[in-house]
Amino acid sequence: MNQNWHSTLIRHLLLLVTGCLLIGLVTGYYGWSLAAGVALYLGWTLKQLLRLHDWLRNHQPDEAPPDGYGLWGEVFDSIYHLQRRDQRVRGRLQAVIDRVQESTAALKDAVVMLDSDGNLEWWNRAAETLLGLKTPQDSGQPVTNLVRHPRFKEYFEQDNYAEPLDIPSPVNDHLRIQLYITRYGNNEHLMLVRDVTRLHQLEQMRKDFIANVSHELRTPLTVICGYLETLLDNVDDVNPRWKRPLSQMQQQGERMQTLLNDLLLLAKLEATDYPSDNQPVPIDSLLRTIKNDAQALSGQRNQTITLDVEADVALKGSETELRSAFSNLVFNAVKYTQDGGHIRIRWWSDGSGAHLSVQDSGVGIDSKHLPRLTERFYRVDSSRNASTGGTGLGLAIVKHVLLRHRARLEISSVLGHGSTFTCHFPPVQVTKSLSPDLIN
Ligand code: ADP
Repeated sequence: MNQNWHSTLIRHLLLLVTGCLLIGLVTGYYGWSLAAGVALYLGWTLKQLLRLHDWLRNHQPDEAPPDGYGLWGEVFDSIYHLQRRDQRVRGRLQAVIDRVQESTAALKDAVVMLDSDGNLEWWNRAAETLLGLKTPQDSGQPVTNLVRHPRFKEYFEQDNYAEPLDIPSPVNDHLRIQLYITRYGNNEHLMLVRDVTRLHQLEQMRKDFIANVSHELRTPLTVICGYLETLLDNVDDVNPRWKRPLSQMQQQGERMQTLLNDLLLLAKLEATDYPSDNQPVPIDSLLRTIKNDAQALSGQRNQTITLDVEADVALKGSETELRSAFSNLVFNAVKYTQDGGHIRIRWWSDGSGAHLSVQDSGVGIDSKHLPRLTERFYRVDSSRNASTGGTGLGLAIVKHVLLRHRARLEISSVLGHGSTFTCHFPPVQVTKSLSPDLIN
């Protein structure tokens, strides 16, 4: 085809030159007739170029190109075919995009596309019901301005989206939503939002049930324990043979009371997000009292308990919650360390925040148990537990308290050589301790 056009072009040019030479022969002006021929050819070429230019600029999508002659006709046709092919590809792509948009629009879950700065680019219909986004006025707005929840802002600005976030919907407080964020492309974000109200209600029912049962059991148990104590005080008047069963009943009663208290504390911890109390808690004095209590718990067991604290580092949070978490760790160390063992409590701060570690030279834990240790009622060895009087809820409480203080628990242990439980608090939770003179 190309070859054909080359030869046609050459033939045309030869014809033009021959024509000009013939006119030159007749008129005797070879030079002028050749110049006139070339000028005519250039003028015609320019005209075709202008027609092409006009058509390219002003043509309707389906308008065919103007009829061209010779090579120009071929050029017009090639451009037209290229355009048609381009249109067909674009049409197919548009159909795919339309189908994807239609299917995501029909999704019950919200899909939101955000640019690398967190501004809204595109969202489906469910995003309007779950997040209250408005089309088109919210386009280009920062998502943190539209989903106004302190935990969402914190979650969005952090880099770790491994865990989803549960918050109430900004549109309706009764709706509970779960957000998943994934990064893609050029640091853009894809946010998926699910309505988890039903799951949340079930979870709430479970928590309420445990809290209510624990609460209801507390009063009868207090009465039973009270009578048992009175009976034990006067056991000789009743029948001395009852002494052993009564004291065992009292022991188990106390265990149940501790269990109920732990369950109630866990229910309370789960009921709210972050500690309502966000006061500076002086950790040094808190640890000193815990150490004294641990010493009392250890009694005659000859354990060495050392405390090593950086005095002016305090934490923002709830003193009662922190006391319960730290004492759980320290008392566990006492419980699970043999007589004469060592327990070391350390509190220090550095660039990555503040840290509390409780290290013991006790029985240690097999590494296979470590991932599940903070689950409720998870026991490494149930027979050992019965003798220590543990409830199996201590570490679950520690985990919850730490979560509410944005901290995490690290456990390292070697079976038979002891364990170290370290709590890592981020710099946002750390503050300077007020000196006692200032407080008074
Ligand atoms: P418990 O009230 O039974 O101590 P926890 O939740 O506090 O329950 O602890 C869970 C389990 O972890 C315990 O049953 C115990 O086996 C193990 N554990 C906790 N702390 C230590 C420790 N310092 N040394 C060895 N084992 C430990």
